[in-house]
Amino acid sequence: RKRDDVDVEALESAVAELDPKATYTTFAELPLSEPTREGLKSAHFSTLTDIQAKAVPLALKGRDILGAAKTGSGKTLAFLIPVLENLYRAQCIGGDAGLGAMVISPTRELAIQIFEVLRTIGRKGHIFAAGLVIGGKSLREEQDALARMNIVVCTPGRILQHLSQTAAFNVDNLRMLVLDEADRILDMGFSRDLDAIIEYLPTDRQTLLFSATQTKKVGDLARLSLRDPEYVSVHEAA
Ligand code: ADP
Ligand code: MG
Repeated sequence: RKRDDVDVEALESAVAELDPKATYTTFAELPLSEPTREGLKSAHFSTLTDIQAKAVPLALKGRDILGAAKTGSGKTLAFLIPVLENLYRAQCIGGDAGLGAMVISPTRELAIQIFEVLRTIGRKGHIFAAGLVIGGKSLREEQDALARMNIVVCTPGRILQHLSQTAAFNVDNLRMLVLDEADRILDMGFSRDLDAIIEYLPTDRQTLLFSATQTKKVGDLARLSLRDPEYVSVHEAA
C-alpha cells in the first residue's frame, strides 16, 4: 500500500474516535493530516478559537453545521480546516477527482480573503487544485480553470452563471458546500441565487453554514440547505 493510504486509514480511525463534545484547545490535539498540521504551524496558528473548538470536531466527523459567531472569531479556519481534511481523507485530489468543495462568499473581496487563508494553510504539501470564481475574468477563462479545481471559492451570482450556462461544469463529485456570511449573502439579495445553486448540487453532501447573526432568513436557508444540523454558536461574554 502507498504511504498515503496508510495515513488516510489512520486518520479515518482517529476521526471516528474523536469526541465532538470534548474540549480541544490546540490543533495538535485534533486528528489532522500532516500537510494541514504543517500549514497551521507555518502560519503560527496553535490554539483554537471558541467557534473553531466547537465546529471543527463536528465538521471533521461529517456533520452539517449552522454556526453563528461575530466577526473576528475565526470562522474562516472553522470551515477551511474541515474542507481540506475531509477532501484529503476522501482522496478527492487532482484532475480526475473533480470539484469536491464549493465555498460561497457574499463579495469578491471576502472570497479573495478566504482564498488567501486557504493558500496559507494549504501551502505545506497539500496538492489540491483550488481557485477563485468571482468574475473579473471572461466566463471562458473561468470555465477552463473550474474544470481542474477540487476547491472553488466563489460569489453566488458568478457561480450560478457557470452552473446554468456551462454544460461541461460537473458538480457530481461535490461533497462539501460552505456558505460563509450567510446573513450578508441574504441581505445582499442573493436568496434566489442560493436556492438555485443548491438545486444543482448533489443532496448527499456536507453543508457548513456560517453567519454573524441568526436571522429568520438564515433559518429559512438552513432548513433548505442543511441536513440534521448541529447548532454551534459563540456568545460574547456579558
Ligand atoms: P471571522 O470570519 O469570524 O470574522 P476570521 O476567520 O476572518 O474571522 O479570523 C479573524 C482573525 O483571527 C484573522 O486575523 C485570523 O488570522 C485570526 N485567527 C483565526 N483563527 C485563529 C487561531 N486559531 N489562532 C490565532 N488567530 C486566529
Ligand atoms: Mg469571515
